Amino acid sequence: MECLSVDERFRNIDYNIEFIKEHISEAAYKSSRSYEDINFMAVTKTVEPIFINRAIERGIRLIGENKVQEFLSKKLYLKLDNCNAHLIGHLQTNKVKQIVGEVSMIESVDSFKLASEISKRSMAKNVTTSCLLEVNIGGEENKTGISPDSLEELLYQVSELPNLEVCGLMTIPPVCENNHELYKYFSKMHQIFIDIKDKKLDNTNISILSMGMSGDYEQAIMCGSNHVRIGSAIFGPRLY
Ligand SMILES: *Cc1c(COP(=O)(O)O)cnc(C)c1O
Repeated sequence: MECLSVDERFRNIDYNIEFIKEHISEAAYKSSRSYEDINFMAVTKTVEPIFINRAIERGIRLIGENKVQEFLSKKLYLKLDNCNAHLIGHLQTNKVKQIVGEVSMIESVDSFKLASEISKRSMAKNVTTSCLLEVNIGGEENKTGISPDSLEELLYQVSELPNLEVCGLMTIPPVCENNHELYKYFSKMHQIFIDIKDKKLDNTNISILSMGMSGDYEQAIMCGSNHVRIGSAIFGPRLY
């Protein structure tokens, strides 16, 4: 990767975006939807602004960043007039103040403590922050996200908070040996999403199911995802 020129990387980004769009369309079609029903997010962690801006020029309307500091330092250089940014990485309570008002959604809310802080800082800035609750669908021990069993309680608590709106769920499934296992997690997640959507809780607007990354976005869409987060399949392998 290091050997590619800027122009070569531009060409790869252009090609990859078109390739992924086609595959999103196909998967959407197979699940009785269309491309327009799916949010295609470009995950831009470790990617320099010049390449992020290329993706935006090629039609990307949503980017995702993992780290508050990295996003804020790049934001000035990004052409975000027609593009939204979401925070998708684990968020520490002490960073909430800096990120509220800077992104249009926080996808990684997994505790009442964190949600309370987002609510408090949103009130202070006179904004409402859209959030997704992150679910640890595989119940993995050292992974972020709320366990499926505790999700409903968290949802009820968080829906009471001012200046915060829950818009759906996000998940990263466990690393799977095969498609069968992967489908099991994605389907379970979709069922949970449908269940809480049907509850129509006050102060929530449950409409987004954020699941699927470079290696599994087609499977995720076929299981009902409407929001995929794709990094390396657009920008190439990440160099840390
Ligand atoms: C990095 C990351 C992605 C994208 O991963 P790829 O496999 O590169 O597509 C998606 N979601 C989250 C939360 C991430 O941290």
